Amino acid sequence: MLLPGGLWHEGQRKRGFAFKPVTGALEFGIAEIAGLGYAMPEAVTKILQLALAQLGGEAPSEQRVEELCIADRQFLMRELQIHLGDSEIWYSQRCRHCNESFDFELDLRSLPVAEGDEHYPFVEVELDKLEIRLRLPTGCDQLVLADKEEVEIPAVLLKLCLLTQSKEVDAFIAGLTQEEVASIEKAMEQASPGIVTDVQVNCSNCSSINPVYLDPYRLLNRGYGTLLSQIHCLARAYHWSEEQILALPVQRRAAYLTMIDADRGMSH
Ligand SMILES: [Zn+2]
Repeated sequence: MLLPGGLWHEGQRKRGFAFKPVTGALEFGIAEIAGLGYAMPEAVTKILQLALAQLGGEAPSEQRVEELCIADRQFLMRELQIHLGDSEIWYSQRCRHCNESFDFELDLRSLPVAEGDEHYPFVEVELDKLEIRLRLPTGCDQLVLADKEEVEIPAVLLKLCLLTQSKEVDAFIAGLTQEEVASIEKAMEQASPGIVTDVQVNCSNCSSINPVYLDPYRLLNRGYGTLLSQIHCLARAYHWSEEQILALPVQRRAAYLTMIDADRGMSH
């Protein structure tokens, strides 16, 4: 599979990646990392490191995962959700017109993905006085921004991503007009690959259109689900250890659980 952006290494764009097969160990590990209270960028890095078999043809080291652009990291978190079998999701939303709750189903696989353009991961912006060159923000930048105040973020991000040499970077950034900052932000947004995070959905009661936000990091809220009760059920029936059960591919785990269920049905 290909990343919409890719890692930029020695003048080459590396877009290949693959996830490990789904086992209980992977599902367990994801739930465990998500529950440990890391800041979001750190949790995302740890989960992707755990789940990826390869990234750009190499082992998914912490550094490589952090070097991915933010759009790639969001893409991978959503792809991982799909990989785990959670692609069809029911959402519940309160209509902002009639105030009634309505449910809708969305298949994440049906959402489009925008790929980076031929300049990726770089962006050039023509300002009044000069042309500046930037790179798209990465997971490393997300880490730096994680403990910054909302108001500081645009200037800090600009400083991190600015590639144009300037002796007085802070003064240069402070000297930009609001319009210039806005046009830089717009250019970066347009150049960035990306997944869909905002959709419009019709309310099933009054048919009016509602904007709905699709969290790209929804996987962080997955939790253990029924995994623990499945382990319990298999351990009781077969006397396997937790480690043996977690190593089973997800389809085999499901097949054994179906058989246990069928046996129970017969004994009733
Ligand atoms: Zn409505």
